[in-house]
Amino acid sequence: MSTTPATPAATPDAAPRKRRPPRRVQVTRVQTLSPLMRRITLQGAELEGFEVNDPASYMKLIFPEPGQTEPERPLPDAPRPKSMRTYTPLAVRNDVNEVDVDFVLHGDGPASTWAAQAQAGQVLYLMGPGPGYKLALDAPLHVLIGDDSALPAFETILAALPASAQVQVLVEVVDTAEERPLQSAAKVETQWLARGADNTQAGTALEAALRKAGAPAADARIYLACEAAAMRSIRKLLIEELGVERSHIVGRGYWKLGTVNHPDHDYGEDA
Ligand SMILES: Cc1cc2nc3c(=O)[nH]c(=O)nc-3n(C[C@H](O)[C@H](O)[C@H](O)COP(=O)(O)OP(=O)(O)OC[C@H]3O[C@@H](n4cnc5c(N)ncnc54)[C@H](O)[C@@H]3O)c2cc1C
Repeated sequence: MSTTPATPAATPDAAPRKRRPPRRVQVTRVQTLSPLMRRITLQGAELEGFEVNDPASYMKLIFPEPGQTEPERPLPDAPRPKSMRTYTPLAVRNDVNEVDVDFVLHGDGPASTWAAQAQAGQVLYLMGPGPGYKLALDAPLHVLIGDDSALPAFETILAALPASAQVQVLVEVVDTAEERPLQSAAKVETQWLARGADNTQAGTALEAALRKAGAPAADARIYLACEAAAMRSIRKLLIEELGVERSHIVGRGYWKLGTVNHPDHDYGEDA
């Protein structure tokens, strides 16, 4: 069993490293999980060798620019494509070169608008994967705190935990229509919180619920991923008011209110 504390791994934006070649993939299936969440299956021979080792890993998806039916294959050393965004590889099926991706349909931006119209046969480019969350498997409790954009990451963490693990999931979504069962062998308690359609309220319901619940069990390991300012505020609450050991929290700003393509390496450690 690992005793390594959960720490964020460096991402390609944090340190120079050789970029993996882009992989051309095609949509093979589109499923509606809830009014604002679509699961899209991407498949392609170029996914050969696409190996994801940690839960909550990430990859970069490149979407078509306006007027393009298919994005251009990014060239080595060319500037990063404007329509490139960060997503979580969910289920990876190497035997058939497939990966599932869950998209929040938040209504703005190249990724969300592409996902809302996605159909079988459409093409994207995919880069990665990059490293994810190092699970402390011997932790007495795993706490997952986040919004709808982090649900795919939570699902990969839940899938990686053994039956002996105890997990508390606190997830903020727009409304109750977004609630759905989360699969895991572990013992999972899930609390769904509705924030309403006003994105300026992102994280408010999470913070209020945490304040009400009080300090989590000692030595709990916390994965916290949501809107960037909300993540900072919740991180502060956990450390300064609820007494959580800083090193037991991995914070990730998954998106930022009013910001296009928020960087994928925002851990909120400045807060
Ligand atoms: C490691 C990592 C993994 C991620 N995994 C997933 C995933 O699996 N599924 C997923 O849906 N998202 C995921 N995200 C979040 C996703 O990268 C962002 O939401 C991204 O900004 C979406 O790009 P876009 O083109 O739709 O919007 P952008 O062009 O980046 O932004 C346009 C506008 O939309 C707003 N916006 C962006 N995202 C959201 C949101 N989720 N809710 C409300 N408003 C938003 C921005 O504030 C901005 O005003 C992940 C992020 C990280 C860092």
